[in-house]
Amino acid sequence: MTTMTTPHAGPGAAGRSQGGRIFNFSAGPGVLPEEVLRQAQQDLWDIDGSGIGVLEHSHRGKVIDRVWDEAEKDTRELAGIPGNYKVLWLTGGASSQFFQVPMNLLPRGGTADYLVTGHWAKKAQEEAAKFGTAHVACSSEDRNFSYIPGPQQTRYSASPAYVHFTSNNTIFGTEWTGEPQGLPAGAPLVCDMSSDMFARPVDVSRYGLIYAGAQKNLGPAGVTLVIIREDLLERAPKELPTMLQYRVHAKEGSRYNTPPVFAVYMVGLVLKWIRANGGLAGMARRNQEKARHIYDVLDSSSFFRGTAERPSRSLMNICFRTPGEDLDEKFVKEAKAAGFDGLKGHRSVGGMRASVYNAFPPEGARALAQFMRDFETRNG
Ligand code: PMP
Repeated sequence: MTTMTTPHAGPGAAGRSQGGRIFNFSAGPGVLPEEVLRQAQQDLWDIDGSGIGVLEHSHRGKVIDRVWDEAEKDTRELAGIPGNYKVLWLTGGASSQFFQVPMNLLPRGGTADYLVTGHWAKKAQEEAAKFGTAHVACSSEDRNFSYIPGPQQTRYSASPAYVHFTSNNTIFGTEWTGEPQGLPAGAPLVCDMSSDMFARPVDVSRYGLIYAGAQKNLGPAGVTLVIIREDLLERAPKELPTMLQYRVHAKEGSRYNTPPVFAVYMVGLVLKWIRANGGLAGMARRNQEKARHIYDVLDSSSFFRGTAERPSRSLMNICFRTPGEDLDEKFVKEAKAAGFDGLKGHRSVGGMRASVYNAFPPEGARALAQFMRDFETRNG
């Protein structure tokens, strides 16, 4: 096959990494490992020596059987998923889980509890309210979602069908350091892990259901990973549309219809990259190191200010500001010229956001920290 041209280099040198690519701080879809992209370039042309590219294979053929088996096996092994859980590859993004979860798990007239710690958590709660009572057990909206509420600030309902939380709040840059405490007995824990899935070890046995859109830590957009405890599969009313029933996808091995083959294939490659880089413990070390470079600058600066409260700070999305909006704008512009892309914060927080998902290289975090120090010297 002909090799593709090298992706274009950014205009600046500071943010340039190997292979001419620039440092991509996008909140999602996010950066993918370079080795994965190179493998995909080859397999797009011809996968497994089959003479057919990965996009062109039947989803029921041998090659995709292999892709499917390995993606599931690697997911299970990486996260130590117990045997009584199913691994599903679904479409519709994490946003579709906002309604699919209550449609399957919330009985008519029932109540589910929501821990509302950000924009996406709120969206999930609002969607669930269309199907039953979506009780807000806690909310950090009073301080613009800048913190994760503790058990003292949380009031669960008597016996919720499940408790839903969002482990990392992509827009506000806050993250739960562990599972919520004081959960009502017997209520399955449901988690949206879209922006910190497999960024650290996870004890799946503490959850009833975990879901994550792939496009931040796991692969490209187009597939949502769902890990569900088997006993929850049968809770859904039989009259639900077929495609919305977890039990159907579990029974059919996520190939009831034509699945997002390419996205699952890409996730499979990313999982192998995670394994080769120390598994989930390796990712945790890598992510802590990256975040430390940037938080160290924030903590030692009177110019930059982190927007998330310290105990709740995310290792994935680091939100910060300069002393003024004009300087924020200048920062983003100069950073872009120096080869650091995607740093503009979400409009509801303002300032900057550096998203440093699993595949984001440590040298990029170091380079940004240096750029921040230099910017402060020039403008402080
Ligand atoms: N949950 C979280 C935590 C997110 O960050 C996002 C997207 N940024 C979503 C849900 C929505 O995901 P999707 O676009 O895949 O529907």
